[in-house]
Amino acid sequence: MHSKFIFITGGVLSSLGKGITSASLALLLEGKGLKVALMKLDPYLNLDPGTMNPFQHGEVYVTDDGAEADLDLGHYYRFSNSPLSKASTTTSGQIYDEVLKKERHGDYLGATVQVIPHITDEIKRRILACATQEKDIDVTIVEIGGTVGDIESQPFLEAIRQFRHESPRNCLNIHLTYVPYIDHAGEVKTKPTQHSVQKLQQTGIFPDMILCRCKEPLGDDIKAKIGLFCSVPKKAVIEVVNVTNSIYEVPILLQEAGLDVTISELLGLSQKRSQLNDWQEMLTTLLEAKERVSIAIVGKYLTHKDAYKSVFESLSHAGIGNKAIVDIVCIDADKIVDKKDFYEKVAGCHGVLVPGGFGERGWIGKLIAVQYCREEKVPYFGICLGMQALSVEFAQNVLGFESANSTEIDPETRAPIISLLSEQRKVVNLGGTMRLGAYPCTLDTSSKTYAAYGKKEISERHRHRYEFNNEYQEICQKKGLKIIGTYTPFNLVEAIEIENHPWMVGVQFHPEFKSKPTSPHPLFKAFVEASIAFKREPKEALV
Ligand code: GLN
Repeated sequence: MHSKFIFITGGVLSSLGKGITSASLALLLEGKGLKVALMKLDPYLNLDPGTMNPFQHGEVYVTDDGAEADLDLGHYYRFSNSPLSKASTTTSGQIYDEVLKKERHGDYLGATVQVIPHITDEIKRRILACATQEKDIDVTIVEIGGTVGDIESQPFLEAIRQFRHESPRNCLNIHLTYVPYIDHAGEVKTKPTQHSVQKLQQTGIFPDMILCRCKEPLGDDIKAKIGLFCSVPKKAVIEVVNVTNSIYEVPILLQEAGLDVTISELLGLSQKRSQLNDWQEMLTTLLEAKERVSIAIVGKYLTHKDAYKSVFESLSHAGIGNKAIVDIVCIDADKIVDKKDFYEKVAGCHGVLVPGGFGERGWIGKLIAVQYCREEKVPYFGICLGMQALSVEFAQNVLGFESANSTEIDPETRAPIISLLSEQRKVVNLGGTMRLGAYPCTLDTSSKTYAAYGKKEISERHRHRYEFNNEYQEICQKKGLKIIGTYTPFNLVEAIEIENHPWMVGVQFHPEFKSKPTSPHPLFKAFVEASIAFKREPKEALV
């Protein structure tokens, strides 16, 4: 086995930023010239987050090979070049499912099937599969979801304990905890960290490093105290201080705190200092940007800050690409009463984005947003459901099919401009059965979308059941809705544009899964550029 392994656990409380910390660590190691793979182990029993409500779980991130995964994989993608695939994500549900299938198949004939060794063996097998999914992976970073002490994560902790027992020189355990500042005492407290590490030690895992999420840098005395109580040297106590401007500052802060140096020493990796020039340059652009542009997102999960995580991040990347700050204005689609109400809500915005989504709630509000952008020539970007809304609004108000709709919203519509994919007609189970993952798309070279990508053949990721109904192609093209991107093997519509409009684009795929701060997605970049143009010269932008 070539790879070394870093296991990251969390303690005290959730939401400490384990995903961003893991992703930042990957960037630091890549900066030394190492090849890194990241993996997320999630303790819940769903096979994947695909059937969970975004209010429950936040965004579902999709990989090229069609895994529906935790949003932390999005952080991995944005910070690092780690391969991301089905091998990068596992839930307790998948582990049990696999073991139970083998049991039914008779693979364990004669044995009692148990958490140890059968469940833990399956977890270890998957960690190894991640580390060997590509050649020459130097370091595999495994993030364990949840918080130490949760009943659900016990088998994962036991598996990584065994893993280290079997390969002691190749493994490192990092524990991320919380060091709160207590106002009335006027000092930070280390007790929660001590307890969390004790809890971890009870499982047989002795962390090599303690990362402390905190508000302000910790003094040397505090680090020494944590080191003493948790049996690690002081230099292995690293603070992860809250960032003020951007999460993309985290890798730099961790480097300044000495994370990469200590890890390299402990794991016997190259002592070369991480080169983060591109990253630093991106950060400088981000922090020095002055021009501001406001983009409205019209969705229905906006109260959950992570439900559209990749869309938010992609807009900020597009800001970097345009040397501007993108201010996001959240408009709850469900609360849009009528056109007048939307005009008031969207006042001051220079572009509108309708992201992916499911179901009827908020649908009418999204159609109003589309109509506003089409009529007022405001830049519009429709992603997945946002493209479907664009098609339906056009059919209703330009083609004059008053009852036009998606059959997802109105199964009885007489003008089903969006209808179920033929491959979906036989589908019974709802989990993992959408059209998922990467498919190629061929672009029309006269389109704005082509101009953005600068190439004709693209590949993007999907997660949908409904599609543009080709019976409406001809009339749409005639009246100004252009089909400009197609999945040619099945003639599926992948991208559309409205003619005589500064920038009105809808895509059936999810470009937000493939944007990085250091290489903003071309479509997001073009959308923000069009919105800046609209802001500068709203009249000029009219075609
Ligand atoms: N609900 C729509 C479909 O299934 C759109 C899905 C999405 O936006 N991800 O086709």
